[in-house]
Amino acid sequence: MPRRNNTPKQQRQLIQLASCRDKRKFGNEKDAESAAELQMLLSLTVELHTYQCDQCHYWHLTSKK
Ligand SMILES: [Zn+2]
Repeated sequence: MPRRNNTPKQQRQLIQLASCRDKRKFGNEKDAESAAELQMLLSLTVELHTYQCDQCHYWHLTSKK
């Protein structure tokens, strides 16, 4: 079977999409922010930020800045 140069890129995209699937998704920034706030109230040691994913275009939460 011939090896194709674009295989690694496709694999990276699959990994990215798989990681999106495991994350919480929000349809808009407001929902993501209220979930982040709730999470921070429950666990005062975490600091969460919201970001719009360029892979799935939903909003996710991250503890990274
Ligand atoms: Zn995503």
